[in-house]
Amino acid sequence: MTTTSPDPKIIDLLKAKEDGSKPFASIEFFPPRTEVGVKNLFARMDRMKEAINPLFTDMTWGAGGSTAELTLKLATHAHEHGHVANMHLTCTNMEKDGDPKKAVHEALTTAKNNGIRNIVALRGDPPAGEEEWKAAEGGFTCALDLVEYIRENFGQEFGISVAGYPEGHPNAISEIADPSSMSEAEKGRSSTFDGKVFTCKDEDYKKEMDYLKKKVDAGADFIITQMFFDTKAFGAFVEDCRKWGILCPVVPGLMCINAYAGFCKMTKFCKTRVPASLQAKMDSMKDDPDAVKAFGVEYGIEMCKDLTAIGVDVLHFYTLNLEKVTYGILGGLGYEVKTAADESDAASMVAKGSAWARVGDQVKTNDGATGTVLEIFSNGSAKIAFEGKEPVSLPKSQFSKVF
Ligand SMILES: Cc1cc2nc3c(=O)[nH]c(=O)nc-3n(C[C@H](O)[C@H](O)[C@H](O)COP(=O)(O)OP(=O)(O)OC[C@H]3O[C@@H](n4cnc5c(N)ncnc54)[C@H](O)[C@@H]3O)c2cc1C
Repeated sequence: MTTTSPDPKIIDLLKAKEDGSKPFASIEFFPPRTEVGVKNLFARMDRMKEAINPLFTDMTWGAGGSTAELTLKLATHAHEHGHVANMHLTCTNMEKDGDPKKAVHEALTTAKNNGIRNIVALRGDPPAGEEEWKAAEGGFTCALDLVEYIRENFGQEFGISVAGYPEGHPNAISEIADPSSMSEAEKGRSSTFDGKVFTCKDEDYKKEMDYLKKKVDAGADFIITQMFFDTKAFGAFVEDCRKWGILCPVVPGLMCINAYAGFCKMTKFCKTRVPASLQAKMDSMKDDPDAVKAFGVEYGIEMCKDLTAIGVDVLHFYTLNLEKVTYGILGGLGYEVKTAADESDAASMVAKGSAWARVGDQVKTNDGATGTVLEIFSNGSAKIAFEGKEPVSLPKSQFSKVF
């Protein structure tokens, strides 16, 4: 199917949802690294449209605009093949021809010309190897700037969504020396890794919520959240949004549990709250990938039931460019899934722009030794653990990520 008229705005589709009807399903993809991956993703998008008819389909934007062209191409394919495309756009490192805003303006113009009418306005993460985020001279400083820019320069041409963080943005999460001092709300957002307890303290959470309100007041239509695995944390966040006067839809971002290593890496990296029973269950299956996938479906179904009970409009799946777990969850919830999953292409679904190493990644040194990254420093060097040896710090030029 080819669609030529512009997409509807997602917020209008949400407003048209009948009271008491089941939540819609929506999905997110990222740009794959290889041409084969892109071809396979086109096929997956078409298949998933047919199978589950998502309300909208997100396409992520690589850090620093590293996937700009490809994200636009994929979002355009989605639009032309019957999806309502929700294109992510970050404002980090988007200078062009000396103008810190030109690349963003061009991306928005291309999106508009291609029929895309929905944008997820984001700040973006710091580029490879850098921990701290720095604004370019005269450029955007945060997602709020981008929302304002879109509304000032494109009026109501686009529907806009923004990111929300039920447990606080990772930058606002800190280690707690005395966990017994935490308030009930802080406990509800807390996580534990390597015996250390982390949370977004109440005073930091307040700043997060004040800022989120500004993003919505500046013109965002709805919020999509960071992944979470404790639905109580999401419920508390929605209640807080309402207390803060943030009345727009809050769409829960559901990370599909596909693999043990990926789950541990992502939750540790984002300091995501993982209920102890979930971590214990995952640990018990660490060497059984099929059991992990089956459990991912089971856990996802339970989460979605909780979310449906509190009245969410949409179940938004971070698919990791795969389909089995999403189909399994939706099927288990009684949604119609019209085609069977085909993940024979899974190996081609490596993200473009993920070439740099993060904590927990396997890397190979220039001498051919393989190790695991323990720590990344702001200059891109890393502390790397090698089996049977003391960890070593190496400059960025002396190791590369193993895929
Ligand atoms: C749904 C979702 C989709 C995402 N998609 C992508 C993607 O496609 N590509 C990608 O690279 N990354 C993506 N990310 C990650 C995101 O870019 C990072 O989390 C990034 O660090 C912050 O982006 P943001 O838009 O939330 O930033 P902001 O909303 O700008 O906030 C970042 C942090 O800074 C604080 N802050 C910023 N400005 C102010 C201010 N004026 N006053 C007070 N506090 C302020 C906020 O409170 C928050 O802690 C996504 C995240 C989510 C949740």
